[in-house]
Amino acid sequence: MALIGPAVLCVFGLSFLWAWMIERRRDYLLLLAAAPALFAIAVAVQVFFWPASVPANALLSGLFYTVAVQIAAEAVLRRSGKRLGRVWHACAFIAVMGGLWYFAYVAPNLLARVYLQNFGYGLVLLVASLHITPLMRGRPVDRVLFWVLFAFALHFFPRTILTIGLEAPGDLRVFQDSLFWQALHLSLAVLGAALATALLAATLSDVIDDLRRERDSDGLTGLLNRRAFEQRAGAMLSVAGEAPCVLLVCDLDHFKRVNDSHGHAAGDEVLSAFGRLLRRVSREKDLVARIGGEEFAILLPGATQAAGLVLAERVRAGLSGLVFTFAPGGGAVTASFGIAERRSGDALSELVSRADRRLYQAKARGRDRAVADDCAEIPQPGPAQAAAVSTLPIRAPR
Ligand code: GH3
Ligand code: MG
Ligand code: MG
Repeated sequence: MALIGPAVLCVFGLSFLWAWMIERRRDYLLLLAAAPALFAIAVAVQVFFWPASVPANALLSGLFYTVAVQIAAEAVLRRSGKRLGRVWHACAFIAVMGGLWYFAYVAPNLLARVYLQNFGYGLVLLVASLHITPLMRGRPVDRVLFWVLFAFALHFFPRTILTIGLEAPGDLRVFQDSLFWQALHLSLAVLGAALATALLAATLSDVIDDLRRERDSDGLTGLLNRRAFEQRAGAMLSVAGEAPCVLLVCDLDHFKRVNDSHGHAAGDEVLSAFGRLLRRVSREKDLVARIGGEEFAILLPGATQAAGLVLAERVRAGLSGLVFTFAPGGGAVTASFGIAERRSGDALSELVSRADRRLYQAKARGRDRAVADDCAEIPQPGPAQAAAVSTLPIRAPR
């Protein structure tokens, strides 16, 4: 009867093992597979009373219980990128196992062992749940996981006091018929299954989120890709109403030459450094994307084209300071920018085509510059350049 709970948890353990075989980089899944197995071994040691000596049995089952609890706590923390640390685990292990040894061999006392194990495991899980309190501000699945772990940790205290208090088992032979034993295994099965379900759901959400992130991001720069940019920018514009909004498109100048002269790897280095630069100079709420080979876009919600020009200038300045392995002196790469401010009712496609037109003008006027909707330009063109520009076949601004 007592083996039903561990068997159910072992089914969850197998699910975690299967999940780990698919997602090996999530090592906490392997720990979650091991914990129910160790728990089942601990229960079997007690139920089959092997070894058949009370202190040795208490110590061996205690060893498996303790490691199972510590591994489960560590797994939950690792999922959130946290750890309890070796010293902490060693101290917890020595405290519980040292106490068990004392109350098994030196001053044999079943009740003391029961309190020590239950309160010890409750404390280990309580500390783990306190480490993951940030999950309370996370997704619903994270919040559920936190509360299930917290309830699991807390239940060790009242359950032990109530059941032991009602019916204190002094003799190990009647122990497995006691109310304490029944309540222990029922609560561990129910809360253990709830915790395992919450962990499986959280893992599934993690995998889905990772897949979404991969789908939406550009592999080289980590910025949004064109598809995600169009989707998010469209959504942003539709809720923005009449609020101002600026789109900045930029294209690296003569980028083909970098590839041709220094190789594709050098080109990739430039692209990822440029991506990092764009992220650094833009605000958290701006949408920054790589929308083509060496073309990028930044959508600035709530900004006017003056802010777009300032941002373009910051990118130009940042770019001139970038040092590449193929050009240790810096200043080897420049970019051109087209800036368009949203007019009422503009859809994303209209905004993009106006910004593209300004980018085309920036290229035509000699590159390494930004041209905005009202034909404002950074840096200001000199008289010679202005004359040269007038001869270029650029399309008239809208
Ligand atoms: P312009 O100043 O007119 O923009 O000239 P450009 O050379 O930058 O433009 P062009 O369109 O002629 O060349 C773009 C180059 O970008 C060609 C392509 O090989 C390169 N490119 C596109 N994607 C990647 C990439 O992921 N990595 C590398 N290294 N190069 C890329
Ligand atoms: Mg280019
Ligand atoms: Mg281009």
